[in-house]
Amino acid sequence: MALHVLKRFAGANVRVLQIVQSSAPEVIFTPDPHGGAEVLWFNFKLEDADPSPSVPDTLTLTLRYFRNLLGGGDPQYFRPLIRQQKNSWRRLSPPSVRSLADGQPLLSWTIPYPVTLTEVAFCYPYGADELQVQLARSKGYWREESIGLTQSGRVMTRLDNQVMDGGDVAGRPRGLYLLARQHSGETPGSWVLDGLLEGFSRNRSGNKWCVWAIPFANLDGVVAGDYGKDTFPYDLNRAWGSPPMRHETLVLQRDMRRWAALCRPELVLDLHAPGACEHEGMYLFKANPQTAETENDRAQQTWINVLQQQLGAEFAAEPFARIATHGSRWSTARVTDFVRDTFGCTALSMEIPYGFCGDTVMTPKQYREAGRRLARAILSRW
Ligand SMILES: [Zn+2]
Repeated sequence: MALHVLKRFAGANVRVLQIVQSSAPEVIFTPDPHGGAEVLWFNFKLEDADPSPSVPDTLTLTLRYFRNLLGGGDPQYFRPLIRQQKNSWRRLSPPSVRSLADGQPLLSWTIPYPVTLTEVAFCYPYGADELQVQLARSKGYWREESIGLTQSGRVMTRLDNQVMDGGDVAGRPRGLYLLARQHSGETPGSWVLDGLLEGFSRNRSGNKWCVWAIPFANLDGVVAGDYGKDTFPYDLNRAWGSPPMRHETLVLQRDMRRWAALCRPELVLDLHAPGACEHEGMYLFKANPQTAETENDRAQQTWINVLQQQLGAEFAAEPFARIATHGSRWSTARVTDFVRDTFGCTALSMEIPYGFCGDTVMTPKQYREAGRRLARAILSRW
């Protein structure tokens, strides 16, 4: 038996605390902060090049420091995934929980073993490979354009549906701008974006819309395997002021201004995932309210109603539209504030749970279905 952990691949994150190589093998792990204030995302591989047939037929995965994870609440809703021998990902059962003398909970799962390769992830990974699958499926509907660099020099990509017109304002298409992964570990946002991309590519009336999409807003964090929520030097979704506090937001603001010059800006949808154990369904954060009701508030409410209706009770939580009241390490502008103040159109951030929307167990199929419903809702308006 030579069990070891692999974490040198895109999106990997783990801090292995102990590997017990005995007749009762156990891997004790926790997500690595990677320099950020919050932790949650993990993704690693267990490899055993020489699995001994004499060991028992299970291995124990034990997660430590659960209470330090963002939203580490009710353990029964904390349901990571494993994939063994390149089979499909599957969600683990509720963990067994035991407490240390000081009250710290330890969450454990038993998984089949010996197995040469086991992959472990907090949620379904989504990176460049998964995006390429969708782009191939969309058969050239989406064009990729590079728009600038990340703070560490990676090339940032934006997708567009090649519908744009800089002529008379009245003749321009309506504009939709989509973002995912401002918080790099929030992969449910990517799976829903995947469904949105498919929904537009398969509907002819999509050509009435000028749709631009940022698949990986915090690309450095996606590649590095960072959770990326309240990451340093600056949380991406608090860096939208003037001047912007990160190079990525500078690049994104310039790109949005180009978009706004080629369309009639209608909606910006920014896709996220909430705390680890939230399980009631998808919901929206509106831009912070202004002192008096404006025309934009009424347009925003119409969008909220349309999106909620199409998602249905299967995916949408109650209340569906909320004002963000949780504490933040940075009080500076979010994307929703920037869009409202710059373009005057509706901007909504959507939270998509990692595991459950009520009774619905979320899988890539379910996330993508939710994304297709959002596309249908948007296309239903004009
Ligand atoms: Zn987020």
